[in-house]
Amino acid sequence: MGDAARTSGRSSDSSPGSSSVGCTVDDVRERTDIVEVISQYVALKRAGKTHKGLCPFHAEQAPSFTVDPHKQLWYCFGCQIGGNVFHFLMRIEGLTFNEAAERLARRAGLVLQRAPAQAQRQSERDVLAKVNLAAARFYREQLTGPGGAAARAYLCERGLAQATIQRFGIGLAPDEWETLYRHLHEGGYAAEAITKSGLAVPRAEGGGCYDRFRNRIMFPIIDIQRRVIGFGGRTLGDDPAKYVNSPESALFVKGRTLYALPEAVRSMQEKGRAVLVEGYFDCVVAHEHGFTETVATLGTALTSEHVALLRRRTDRVYVAFDADSAGAAATVRSWPLFDDAGVEVRVIALPRGLDPDSFLREHGAEALEERLGQAPTMIDWQLRALVAEYEGRDEEARLRMIEEAVPLLSGIAGAVARAHYVKRLAEYWCGPRIERVSIIEEALHQEIRRAHSAGRKREQDSPLPPAAPSADRAERELLAAMLQNRQAAERIVESVSPQDFTDPNCREIFERVLERFDQDVTVTVESLVADLSPDAAARAAELAMMDTVDVEGSRVVSDLVDRMQEAGWRRRYEELRKRQQTGELLDPQDPAFREYYELRRRHAAAVGRRAVGDDRAPEAVTGAAGEDGRR
Ligand SMILES: [Zn+2]
Repeated sequence: MGDAARTSGRSSDSSPGSSSVGCTVDDVRERTDIVEVISQYVALKRAGKTHKGLCPFHAEQAPSFTVDPHKQLWYCFGCQIGGNVFHFLMRIEGLTFNEAAERLARRAGLVLQRAPAQAQRQSERDVLAKVNLAAARFYREQLTGPGGAAARAYLCERGLAQATIQRFGIGLAPDEWETLYRHLHEGGYAAEAITKSGLAVPRAEGGGCYDRFRNRIMFPIIDIQRRVIGFGGRTLGDDPAKYVNSPESALFVKGRTLYALPEAVRSMQEKGRAVLVEGYFDCVVAHEHGFTETVATLGTALTSEHVALLRRRTDRVYVAFDADSAGAAATVRSWPLFDDAGVEVRVIALPRGLDPDSFLREHGAEALEERLGQAPTMIDWQLRALVAEYEGRDEEARLRMIEEAVPLLSGIAGAVARAHYVKRLAEYWCGPRIERVSIIEEALHQEIRRAHSAGRKREQDSPLPPAAPSADRAERELLAAMLQNRQAAERIVESVSPQDFTDPNCREIFERVLERFDQDVTVTVESLVADLSPDAAARAAELAMMDTVDVEGSRVVSDLVDRMQEAGWRRRYEELRKRQQTGELLDPQDPAFREYYELRRRHAAAVGRRAVGDDRAPEAVTGAAGEDGRR
C-alpha cells in the first residue's frame, strides 16, 4: 500500500501537464474536504483550529482523534495513526490507495487518470462485490419465481411482509447443486472469483464446483457502502446446519460486520440507541415491528471493531437475546469491550425459550418497548441472574455466589458505581432481612479489595512489555520545526544528515524534505504526507499537529540540532562502552577503539559541564512544545 501511495504521489508530481486527459491524485486531494469526508464516519466537534472526535480505530471515551482542516490531515493521539484523507479511507474502509483515490475522485466529480494496465486490473474486492451482487439478484429471482412458492409460504408464516423481504433483499437458494454456479459462470464470472466469494466450493474429485447454499432462505449481508459482501442462509429442509454463512474473504470479515447496519444507522442516531440481536430473522422481524435501530451479530463473538461501529452512532446498546443461548453468554463476556468504550449496555430479558423474533410475534412491539424501558444494566442483570441461580440454596452454596460475584464487581471501573452494585447485591442476597445488608456489603467490599490487590501483585510480577519504539523528542521537534518554517528548515538541513535520525519514519520524512529542497519544490506537509509510507505519513501527521515550535530565535534550532547530535553520539558511546566491557575493544589499531576513547572524553566533559551547572536543563529547550510534543 505504501508503494502504491508513493508511486501515485510521484507520478502526479511529474506529469502536471497531462490533466486534460484525467485529473491527478493531487487534484483529487485539493478538491476534497477532509472534514466533510471524515464527518461521514466520525461525529466531529470544532475545537479551536482543529476538529475532534472519538477515534473510529480504537475504543475511547475522550476524543483524541484530531482533524486539521487547514493542513488537511488527521491524527489520533491514542493509537498514533494518522495521515491524509486517502489514508483515512484506506484504513476505515479497508481500501487500497487506488480505490480510495477513485472513490474520492468520483465524489468530487473528477475522472482519475490511470495507467492502462492499472485501469484494466480490478481489485479483488470489486470483483467479489460484483459476484455477490449477481448472486443476490439470482436468489431474489428464485424467490419470486415459480420455484419459490414454498419459500414464500414459509416467509409468510414467519410473519414477514413483502416490503420487508424486498428491503432486505431476501432470496432463495434453490435445492440444486450447480444452478447458481452455472448462472454466474455463464454471466461471465471466472470460476476463481466464484469460489473466492465462497458461493461455490470446488469439488474434491472430478473437477468443477458445487453451490454452497442449497435449499435455503438467503439473507444478503450488505456493508455501509451498500456492497453485498456475503450471505447468511437458513435451511428450508432438515439440514442439521440451520444457518450457514459465507466464509470470510477479502471483502467479508465477520468481526467487522453487523447485519443490517446500513438499514439501522439513521435510526440509531435519531433514537440514540441500538438494539443488538443474534439472528437474521430476529433482526428483520424487529425492523418490521418498528425497531429499525436493530443490528445482528453474525454468529461470532463481539469484537472491539463491532463496538466501535456502534459507538460511532450511539452510546446506548440494548442486547436482546434468548437468555439460554450461547450468544447470551458471549455477549456477557464481551461486556468489558462496551464498558471500555463508554457504551452503556442494557439487557432486554426475554422469557425463557423466546427469542426477539418469537417474542415480537407473540407479544407485539409495545411489549418489547416496555421491556426496553425496564431493561437493567448488564451488571445488574448478571447479579440478578446469579442470585436467581442460588435462590433457596443453603448458606454454604450461597457463599460460592459471593465468590462468583466478586470478579464481576471488582471489574466495575468507578468507585461510586461499584458501591451501588455492591449494595444492590447485598439487598438481593438478604431479601427481607434488611438488618444484614450492611454486614454483607462490608464483606463484599473486603473481598473486592483483596481481588484488587491480588491483581496488582500479578501486574507487578509480570515483566513489563517493551516500550513502543518512539522517535527521540529532539528528532520530532526538529522535523516539526522544519515543516512549520522554511528558514528553520534551511538552517537545519545545513547541519543535520539523514543518518542522524534514529527513527526510520523521521529519517524517511527528512529525506523527502531534502529531495524537495533539491528540486526547489515548496514543502507543505500535505504534499509530503501523500509521498510517504503509511507509518511515516502517520508520523508526519503527528508532527503537523504538534504545537508550533518557536523557531524565530536561532538559538532554538541550534539547541535542537545539538540535542539531536548529542543523543546520537551518546547512543554510540553506550554501544561502544558495552563492547569495551565485554573485552571486545582491546586493539588500539581498531578505529572503534579510538572512537570509544574520543567519545569517553566527550562524555566526561559533558558530565563535568553539568556538574558546574554550565549545561542547560533539557526542559529549558523543550519548553516550546508540550511534554511529549503535544498538549
Ligand atoms: Zn485512535
